[in-house]
Amino acid sequence: MLHAFWKGIGRMNFSFAYSLKKNEVTLTNCDREPVHVPGCIQPFGALLAVNPETGIVTQASANAPEWFNISPEAMTKKPVSEIVGEENGELLAKMVADNKIETYPRYVFSFNGSDILAHLHDGVLILEAEKISSLTEDEERRAYHTVSHISARLRNVKGLQPFCQTLAGEVRGLTGLDRVMIYKFHEDYSGEVIAEAKREDLHSYLNMRYPSEDIPQPAREIFRKIWVRPVPAVDYEPVEVTPLINPATNRPLDMTYCFLRGASVMYTDYLKNMGVAMALTLSIVVEGKLWGLIACHHNSPRQVPWPTRAACELLAQMASLQLKTAENAEYAVYRERMEKASQQMIDEMIESRQGLEALFSASSGLLDFIDADGVAILDNGAWHTRGSTPGKTELRALAQWLRQEFTLTTSGVEVLHTHALSERFAPARNFTELASGMLAIQISRNNEDLVIWFRRELEQTIHWAGDPYSKVVTQGPGGERLLPRTSFDLWKESVHGQSAPWKTVEIEAARRLRLAIMEIMAARLDAVTRENRELAVSNAELDAFAYITSHDLREPLRGIYHYAHFLKESAESRADSDSMEQSESLIRLIRRMDGLIESLLQFSRVGRLQLEKEKVDVGELVQEAADIIYISRTDKKPNITILPGLPAAYGDRPRLRELFTNLMSNAVKYNDGPNPSIEIGFKDGAYFVRDDGIGIPSEYEKVIFQMFKRLHAKDEYGGGTGAGLPIVQKIVERHGGELWLESEPGKGTVFYFTLPEA
Ligand code: ADP
Repeated sequence: MLHAFWKGIGRMNFSFAYSLKKNEVTLTNCDREPVHVPGCIQPFGALLAVNPETGIVTQASANAPEWFNISPEAMTKKPVSEIVGEENGELLAKMVADNKIETYPRYVFSFNGSDILAHLHDGVLILEAEKISSLTEDEERRAYHTVSHISARLRNVKGLQPFCQTLAGEVRGLTGLDRVMIYKFHEDYSGEVIAEAKREDLHSYLNMRYPSEDIPQPAREIFRKIWVRPVPAVDYEPVEVTPLINPATNRPLDMTYCFLRGASVMYTDYLKNMGVAMALTLSIVVEGKLWGLIACHHNSPRQVPWPTRAACELLAQMASLQLKTAENAEYAVYRERMEKASQQMIDEMIESRQGLEALFSASSGLLDFIDADGVAILDNGAWHTRGSTPGKTELRALAQWLRQEFTLTTSGVEVLHTHALSERFAPARNFTELASGMLAIQISRNNEDLVIWFRRELEQTIHWAGDPYSKVVTQGPGGERLLPRTSFDLWKESVHGQSAPWKTVEIEAARRLRLAIMEIMAARLDAVTRENRELAVSNAELDAFAYITSHDLREPLRGIYHYAHFLKESAESRADSDSMEQSESLIRLIRRMDGLIESLLQFSRVGRLQLEKEKVDVGELVQEAADIIYISRTDKKPNITILPGLPAAYGDRPRLRELFTNLMSNAVKYNDGPNPSIEIGFKDGAYFVRDDGIGIPSEYEKVIFQMFKRLHAKDEYGGGTGAGLPIVQKIVERHGGELWLESEPGKGTVFYFTLPEA
């Protein structure tokens, strides 16, 4: 947008006589365009190069004769005093001798209707003439006065964005130009318009992003050195400097600091394509680094006189100084917010005696803590997610990779972060839109709990105020590629698969949160170990108890069942319809109770029995389970697909058959259609059973694994005792595997689980 395609112009030794005017720059060679030695100036002034030692004029712009009122032949090889008069000549000589000439052009005297500004660079005294400014002395004084007011006003603005917004408004007020944008460079030198003040009827460029190629390194290098860059008429005719090689230095004239310096055709074409007729650019330099630019555009040519430019320069310098403070204040506010959120979460964790899960229920959750689009927690083998995150299967794979990364890294690395996840973890290519940025903390090395924040791809998170590009119709001679639209596409390409980068304050805050969590965990560890020991004992006792009671309860229940039958028969013989109904209800209840006891028995058996592990052909096993289902379900005609490539497992064959039968019969059961589709397969290390049934709302994902918990009335969906999934879970656990599910209500459910390899 600003200085498009001033590409890679190295600061090599440009000793050849380059001229903007003669050497045509095209898109193919523009990356070698020597922007600091263009050999030409803009025609709103004239230039003389003087040997500071001899006072002899060595080079002059072709238009100098009119400006200095001399004949073209007399331009060079003459003492400068012969051109500007004895008195001015002496003044210059004295200033040079007293080291009073700076690198920045400063006013020295007026001559022949022009103000003369002088500066010294690369061993050359450069004089630039500009029409005497129309500002009265009073106006000039006011300009400076205004700047000190502006600076005071800026000091009172809190926060970076408001600061930049005010700055844009003030610069617009000072210059009276149509549009003023604050353009900020990111780490990779791509840029973004973060504030804008403009004529109301113009479309906005706010939030626009540009690739680093738009303002390449050599152009940035110049901006880092100068404060103001005027291009009063984009449509200018370059005026050549003769001779092109300075005879005193034997080098082309280095015009880095000249305000008249000829502007690249690539740049002016780009501006023309945007419908811009004039540009004025101010630099923002923070701690020696080019932080950004204040880019001003006008829709008609306009020369901002040098006193106003000087005021702009002062403003740019002051803004640069204040900006660091504004930025620091911004970080301080953010840091404070993170600290507060972190404290709340920690308090919640302590109070609720919960694990990481508490971080979610805390009133100020993990997403308030750090600016992210999603967050996932792996707490004790269970995933909890919020916002935009990859699916559980992808999370599992990511966690596996993270574990490796955390182990590989030398000690002390407790936070892993990237703003281009797919570059480090290839499977992330499948979910760049959802999660291109990742910041992960591992709670401790021996436990595998994780907290992972995600950021979406940059491209997806930018909110445009309409599409301003569609309104840009003008197309100059530079053609297609020099359009902001193309520029934006280039930017998109360059940030594909990337999120906004993580700030140091964020990484630090995540590290502190991790430490705080670890402290709580450590304090709890003792208590938990003790409780765990007790629990292990009581769990075993409970299993034994459940087994004995359910086994023993069945005896008397069978007796009751017989008596209920007698009662029913006797009522039948008496044709006593009341008693008949009562005894039928009794029989139904007994059957239900028997079902429940049977489930409990099965459940406790899974916990108690020694597993008899062997190599199990899972394909064969699933086929057996499918056969059982085909026979038992006469009301529905399921389509069961067993995908090839089911690896053999090492486990207890009857238990594993029970596992598949349970999941597959649920898949048939919880489906409203007559032909449920079920798919059994293996992906990324996990077996899965997929159905196209009614699905499970995410808030019930835990509940369904509790004993006797059903989501439906007892006779709905073919009835059941609610023991199937707890048994399934226990079987997987006893095999040392993991079980999880992904479900979309109305679409279907996938149960995933891992088993030891054969
Ligand atoms: P039940 O004996 O009731 O089937 P389970 O323990 O097997 O008991 O399942 C518990 C609950 O989980 C069920 O009541 C049902 O609501 C839900 N459920 C289980 N599997 C599925 C599935 N594949 N699709 C939808 N809901 C399911």
